[in-house]
Amino acid sequence: MKIKAQIAMVMNLDKCLGCHTCSIPCKQVWTNRQGAEYMWFNNVETKPGIGYPKKWENQEIHKGGWLGSDNNLQLRAGSRSKKFVGIFHNPDLPRIDDYYEPWTYDYDRLVSSPAGQRQPTARPKSSITGHPMDIKWGPNWEDDLAGANETALDDVNFSGLEKEVYLKFKDVFMFYLPRICEHCLNPACVASCPSGALYKRDEDGIVLVDQERCRGWRYCVSGCPYKKVYFNWAKGRSEKCVFCYPRIESGLPTLCAHSCVGRIRYIGVILYDADKIKPAASTSNDQGVYKAHLDIMLNPHDADVMFEARAQGIPETFLIAAQRSPLYKLAVEWGLAFPPHPEFRTLPMVWYVPPLSPLIQELEGSEADLGKSDFMRIPFKYLANLLCAGDEAPIRFALKRLMALRKSMRSLRVDHKPDLQALDEANMTQDMADEMYKLLAIAKNEDRFVIPTTKRADSENMYDDRGILGFPTKS
Ligand code: SF4
Ligand code: SF4
Repeated sequence: MKIKAQIAMVMNLDKCLGCHTCSIPCKQVWTNRQGAEYMWFNNVETKPGIGYPKKWENQEIHKGGWLGSDNNLQLRAGSRSKKFVGIFHNPDLPRIDDYYEPWTYDYDRLVSSPAGQRQPTARPKSSITGHPMDIKWGPNWEDDLAGANETALDDVNFSGLEKEVYLKFKDVFMFYLPRICEHCLNPACVASCPSGALYKRDEDGIVLVDQERCRGWRYCVSGCPYKKVYFNWAKGRSEKCVFCYPRIESGLPTLCAHSCVGRIRYIGVILYDADKIKPAASTSNDQGVYKAHLDIMLNPHDADVMFEARAQGIPETFLIAAQRSPLYKLAVEWGLAFPPHPEFRTLPMVWYVPPLSPLIQELEGSEADLGKSDFMRIPFKYLANLLCAGDEAPIRFALKRLMALRKSMRSLRVDHKPDLQALDEANMTQDMADEMYKLLAIAKNEDRFVIPTTKRADSENMYDDRGILGFPTKS
């Protein structure tokens, strides 16, 4: 057992307002530069939709992530030797039109135009060429389902559903999906880089691009199935979300989490067994990857795990944080949070609590079938395709628990007694419900963000593992 600690995030989609506040400080601090105009390390998409860049979830097009079975793993786009052979031609890269051509407005015309019959206008102009342009796509083009009746027909999460039905006015549904880099346990971006410029930090698992070593081959861009590495056209280097590591090292939350208006984000430590990464990522069945991913995570309340973690040099501050981790509770103990598209096999570490949605029918009787009947406006199948490789059972289980919590709290407030039957049917105790309520509804900063400070000098140098051809491939 090789124990490692990962700083990770959970987002509760039930509470996201789609306000984009999270994107703004991230943009201001990290990508407010030439060559980075089109980059959004944090972006917020409306689902259903094809997102940013266009159709990022469709690996038939983008060839990101891994293929795996029976303990065999290979990059979907092919091995590193194949990349060396074709290093000057990468056909899997998204084009700028798949993101959007960044633009600004000709503001100067508003103040410098001579007096005339009509008010001057500020026309859009390209931030790359400086020429006037027609805006045809942007990072939030599908905001609040705008145009989704056309674009969302290509949303892969409709697999197995009659998408035409769900895009009609009467049956339409939506929710927001904020996205950052997943800081994966098995990052395809790292394995794809011919220069060995991407690496995963030993002490906290944050995935970074070494700007000195990056040669701009862009295989990380195409290799990442979440499309969370971007190419800076002015610098000729790749860039990505850095999980605000200078803040994390000081025990502070990322800017997106700190600024989140809906308070949907949780940051904490997860201990995991690095020896199990390859078997988990190469699980034969796509739907088995989520369960295998859960099995990698170690119980921080287990005395043997703590003893071994100390012996392997995990700092005490990380161990204490792991025991107080809101993520362990949400993802492992309560089964409420899920990794996006586990079938990409990168073992992502930014997980989501699925959104509850309005009921589409009045529930009757004991409501014992909360987890069975299709009573939610958002189809279980859609959420399962997004978060569980199509397996509906874990999603139904999580939503049943969230529903039971809501019913029980309502009964407590209105009838002044808890609805123990609802809790019972969701396999929950009153204590568990109280704890869930505190964490999901009224948690303070110190409960949502349990982040140990880091002493970088004590950390193993991941470059020691690297050969002349970069880090060892996982296959
Ligand atoms: S989500 Fe982040 S860590 Fe995972 S493959 Fe993409 S860029 Fe790499
Ligand atoms: S700030 Fe929070 S609530 Fe607003 S869009 Fe971002 S994640 Fe959602």
